[in-house]
Amino acid sequence: MICVVGGGLAGLSIGYLLKGKCVVFEANRIGGLLRSEKIDGYTFDTGGSHILFSNDEKVLSELLQFLDDYIEHRRRAFIFYKGRYVKYPFENGIFSLSPHERFEILKDFVENLLKEKKRPKNLLEWFQHVFGNAITEKYLKPYNEKLWKRDLREISLDWVGGRVPNPPIDDVLKSAVGIETEGYVHQLRFFYPLSGGIEILAKNIAENVNIKMEAVRRIEVGDKIYVNGEEFEKVVYTAPLKDLTKIMRDAREIRENIEKLEYNSLAVVGIGVKGKVPNIHWLYVPQEDIVFHRIAFLSNYSPEMAPKNCSTIIAEISNPEKINEGEILEGLRKVGIENEVEIVKTWRWEFAYIVYNHDYRENVEAIKKFLLRRNIIPFGRFGLWEYLNMDMIWKKAKELYESLSCDIEQRQC
Ligand SMILES: Cc1cc2nc3c(=O)[nH]c(=O)nc-3n(C[C@H](O)[C@H](O)[C@H](O)COP(=O)(O)OP(=O)(O)OC[C@H]3O[C@@H](n4cnc5c(N)ncnc54)[C@H](O)[C@@H]3O)c2cc1C
Repeated sequence: MICVVGGGLAGLSIGYLLKGKCVVFEANRIGGLLRSEKIDGYTFDTGGSHILFSNDEKVLSELLQFLDDYIEHRRRAFIFYKGRYVKYPFENGIFSLSPHERFEILKDFVENLLKEKKRPKNLLEWFQHVFGNAITEKYLKPYNEKLWKRDLREISLDWVGGRVPNPPIDDVLKSAVGIETEGYVHQLRFFYPLSGGIEILAKNIAENVNIKMEAVRRIEVGDKIYVNGEEFEKVVYTAPLKDLTKIMRDAREIRENIEKLEYNSLAVVGIGVKGKVPNIHWLYVPQEDIVFHRIAFLSNYSPEMAPKNCSTIIAEISNPEKINEGEILEGLRKVGIENEVEIVKTWRWEFAYIVYNHDYRENVEAIKKFLLRRNIIPFGRFGLWEYLNMDMIWKKAKELYESLSCDIEQRQC
């Protein structure tokens, strides 16, 4: 029998694929970050804005099969820049800026292409290297500093790896001369459940999973593996690596590596709105004097997310200190939401974003090695300590299932 620690999407996916061969331990609530709550008729995705998209059509269609009914969207995402909504990604939205700013960006972009450059060593240098100084200073730097809450030179290039696509040069040039283009195209088309919010995905997968609502407090490894005193052949660990020292006594050996792992927390503020809001999906807010970095208009994902003639918004704040409702309301007014609004509830998530610092790779590798030697397989966003979206979780769950099945078959031979 295999023990899966954690019943978020990662634990549920591998639990679903392994069927009767495993038990999933969940400490809190099934679904992890995929959680939705209905309050006073408003449905909030309490783990932040979640949409289904993928550049792998097979993965996408397999995930969609878990939804009873869903809506397909063409992304309408914007950046709040100098008091107006500029189409996202910024480099594709330049067409809507003043001719003076378009020229400034274009000149800088072309000069940057022509000049001899040193290899970038951190996220800030990478932005300057690929996009030039103008796009970096106007949007990428302020937005990312707000999200990561640190100097971007502290973030290594491990984070970039395919996640922030290089803009096609044509796109930037076209946009700068006033021609509208689309960027980050594999997210341009996305899907969302018709009702119930994003949690419905986790709930539907969980229907066929053997779940035990119990926190894993102790993993002991000798000849066998014991989880909370129960014997298992293997463990798939999807809880945060940061928690290992609490759960495994011999994790003292890698305490230093664990301590060096960095992450950001998140607050999600649920807001009920009387009347209609802008007909967009989400808005990035780099502006320093507005407390949230992103707001998502969930009732534009599905009308069932709000009561009639009302709208549902969530605001996301990275590494929040204390949430000041007045600041949220002021921020909403600044981005143009003048309706009657009510802050319904705030949810806090200790683990939301993995920070790829400069010794990221070295520490994560040391921890993974330690676990694998003990037949504990790290998995999921916080178990692998990787910036994984839902499609990658499902894809990796299938790969893990294949390798576990091979192991099981070999032992039976
Ligand atoms: C703000 C935000 C927005 C996102 N938006 C998108 C998006 O639009 N599209 C997309 O594809 N992906 C998105 N993602 C990524 C997506 O949330 C993750 O890929 C996915 O939810 C990760 O699932 P997981 O199971 O790895 O982790 P989690 O959801 O964190 O699940 C881990 C589970 O382990 C449980 N646990 C912890 N400790 C123990 C213990 N000791 N014993 C038992 N159980 C334990 C927890 O309670 C939790 O249920 C977003 C993520 C964030 C933070």
